[in-house]
Amino acid sequence: MEASAGGTVRGMFTCELCGLATPFTYFGQKPPNTRAIVLLEESYVLKDPFSHDREKFIVLGSSCTVCHKVVCVGTECSLFYTKRFCLPCVRENLDQFPQQIQAELAKKKSAPLHTDPAKR
Ligand SMILES: [Zn+2]
Ligand SMILES: [Zn+2]
Repeated sequence: MEASAGGTVRGMFTCELCGLATPFTYFGQKPPNTRAIVLLEESYVLKDPFSHDREKFIVLGSSCTVCHKVVCVGTECSLFYTKRFCLPCVRENLDQFPQQIQAELAKKKSAPLHTDPAKR
């Protein structure tokens, strides 16, 4: 009997913000066939198709803690700050995030909250 290598596709992961669609092989916090890896959040995981190493996998995305939208880990779609937040939710609650994250977001081009510190 052949043991599952954890590479079975469970479904499609689709980012609700950028539309990225990729098959995923696992959803949860502890990918199969990994010894010491526990993810910080429940994530959509794809076993690395280009690696024969069973422990190689790619984290595709997760769901936003606030609105529960499924978002990819791309910096244009979400960020991880103790939990996963999609960028629209981060922007809505920006004052609750540390300055470092506020500054990072301010650098992003598509920020709808345009605050110019030079004009007060
Ligand atoms: Zn995305
Ligand atoms: Zn959200």
